[in-house]
Amino acid sequence: AKSQGKSAYQRFRPEMKAISYERLQMESNLRRALELDELELHYQPVVRTSDGLMAGAEALLRWRNAELGMVGPDRFIPLAEETGLIIPIGAWVIRQACLEARRWQQLTGQPFFIAVNVSPRQFRDPGFVDLVNEALQEAGLPAGQLELEITERLILDDSIEASDTLSRLDELGVRLSVDDFGTGYSALSYLKSYPFDTLKIDKTFIGDVMIEEDDAALVRAIITMAHSLGLEVIAEGVEDESQTHFLQDHGCDFSQGYFYCRPIVADEFVEWIQTNTR
Ligand code: C2E
Ligand code: CA
Ligand code: CA
Ligand code: CA
Repeated sequence: AKSQGKSAYQRFRPEMKAISYERLQMESNLRRALELDELELHYQPVVRTSDGLMAGAEALLRWRNAELGMVGPDRFIPLAEETGLIIPIGAWVIRQACLEARRWQQLTGQPFFIAVNVSPRQFRDPGFVDLVNEALQEAGLPAGQLELEITERLILDDSIEASDTLSRLDELGVRLSVDDFGTGYSALSYLKSYPFDTLKIDKTFIGDVMIEEDDAALVRAIITMAHSLGLEVIAEGVEDESQTHFLQDHGCDFSQGYFYCRPIVADEFVEWIQTNTR
């Protein structure tokens, strides 16, 4: 037992202690982020590829913490998932996004959509569909203007439960989109069994679309396939003009990326809308 204890001690290196301390610190900070009002949504426009005018936006979460500075979602969403904090945080995101989309509609009279990212644990929560319904009611936003982005990974991981939740969301009238399309282990068959409306082509394909013939071929094929299944297509990660021409030539419905606009705070977004709508 003694030697076991010793090796266990040896395996616990100081840098591991530092990591777990940092993690605990981050977790306790994240627990208070909601009540301290430290979370904010940034919005990135999604435009119609044909004319570059705004069709909607994706809500992207940020955490502004006094100690940690501005923290991006890749740094805290995994922790929020592990700890279950994603449930209240995700609920806040959906409610906030619906309210903001309603505000744009009141300002412009146009039915822009708002796309919200949904993480697996949040999606599996038994209260999820009711929460979505309540957020729509509270904001007075038509269900068809809310798009929920789900990764294909989630669907493949537990298909029976996921299938039931997707049908209930579809009945509510919200739009359902497959995020990061092409990066999972897709068996494409799920596309015809579930009520999806949109495919988002992952930015890794768009990045090299003008350089790699293979990526170009894949993007063309995804667009054709999606359209023949009655799905709309969003290309994400569009960074330069040549990519927009490629996407226009191949009939991609919507585009999103730094070429058009980075994710920006709500007030800046309202300014952006004024100059990018008809
Ligand atoms: P995602 O859903 O794939 O979101 C797109 C990411 O690409 C965003 O990063 C966005 O800022 C970035 N991006 C946009 N245009 C371009 C471009 O032209 N080039 C490049 N290189 N990147 C671009 P962000 O905001 O750091 O978000 C990272 C991920 O965090 C998101 O990936 C999403 O999976 C997750 N996330 C963000 N907000 C939420 C949320 O409210 N809930 C959950 N569960 N996940 C979220
Ligand atoms: Ca997304
Ligand atoms: Ca649908
Ligand atoms: Ca994505």
